[in-house]
Amino acid sequence: MTFDKLNIIEPVLKALKEKEYSVPTPIQQEAIPVALEKQDLLGLAQTGTGKTAAFAIPIIQHLYNEARQEKKKNKEIKALVLTPTRELAIQIEESFRDYAKYTSLRHCVIFGGVKQKAQTDELRKGVDILIATPGRLLDLVAQGFVSLDAIRYFVLDEADRMLDMGFIHDIKRILPKLPVKRQTLFFSATMPPAISSLSRSILKNPRRVEVTPVSSIVETIEQYLYYVEKQEKKDLLIKLLAEKEEASSVLVFSRTKHGADKIARILCKAGIGSEAIHGNKSQNARQKALSNFKSHKTRVLIATDIAARGIDVNQLETVINYDLPDVPETYVHRIGRTGRAGNSGKAYTFCSQDERPMLKDIQKLTGRVLRPLNAGIGEMSGL
Ligand code: AMP
Repeated sequence: MTFDKLNIIEPVLKALKEKEYSVPTPIQQEAIPVALEKQDLLGLAQTGTGKTAAFAIPIIQHLYNEARQEKKKNKEIKALVLTPTRELAIQIEESFRDYAKYTSLRHCVIFGGVKQKAQTDELRKGVDILIATPGRLLDLVAQGFVSLDAIRYFVLDEADRMLDMGFIHDIKRILPKLPVKRQTLFFSATMPPAISSLSRSILKNPRRVEVTPVSSIVETIEQYLYYVEKQEKKDLLIKLLAEKEEASSVLVFSRTKHGADKIARILCKAGIGSEAIHGNKSQNARQKALSNFKSHKTRVLIATDIAARGIDVNQLETVINYDLPDVPETYVHRIGRTGRAGNSGKAYTFCSQDERPMLKDIQKLTGRVLRPLNAGIGEMSGL
């Protein structure tokens, strides 16, 4: 299967070729034809599956075709993508920019935590596609900078995370502002009852498309486990990073913001370039750290789970779980940052004595037993 077989318009095919996408991912193969038919879609897919292109390509294609038929260019917002985090919003806009490169469609991203002026200036110029986080969208609608009256295409991205992050009320306030006549594409990695009922309330005769459930881990990811005392984790991390010199981009997960800062300090002291991103840092500091990491200026990025949502770095080979997450699904999300789009990846997990119950939960969820590389707590001989 190639993209040409999906009836995609030439300007988008050209952009995809430049991105060196040759084969559509499973979610793209299934979702693009449905979305091109203007049917509603319920997509069960997590970040890393290529879902952004699965919704972006059909929207670009519809808007491109419609713009050619309309005599006058209108400045109304025609497509809205709602996503829970700033990082995801920015990355989705980057995807639209890439895929719509050879069209004249205009797009804009709005999110909270920064001054609104640059965003409202952009909106004033006229925008076809708006990517937004819920809070900032409601703010700008209330102030009259955004009208949702002309929305024909609506994407609700990462619906389960919206729920986790407490955005469900914002979503419920936004929904009545959208025209009833529209196409809705709804994406979620999991389908808890609240999300299932939300999807039923906003989708009309949706086609359901499902890829890699959350408990499954991409086969190309190699998983390694170290049993290690809490106070020895920092030494293990330094040693591992020194030994795995070939790993040029390493994402380290910390359960807490404070922990992330501490790890960054320890690594910098050890002469290993690193930066931390978490919710206490300003949006600018987070973006800067992320772009330094993407451009390989910093080798190690330390992130909390919330801040890491939406980090999308091509060819990320290595993920290290410095702490184990409380929720086993988070482990799957974390290590899913590597091994993307068919690339191989490595995930190293540090497990201290008190984290053993969490490890057990993870193994139960993924159905895989992780064999420790070292003999036991306190011993680093297996390194
Ligand atoms: P997403 O799940 O949308 O966050 O995409 C995950 C990653 O896969 C992103 O880095 C995309 O640029 C990349 N990607 C998406 N579709 C393809 C494709 N068909 N071929 C290669 N890479 C892709």
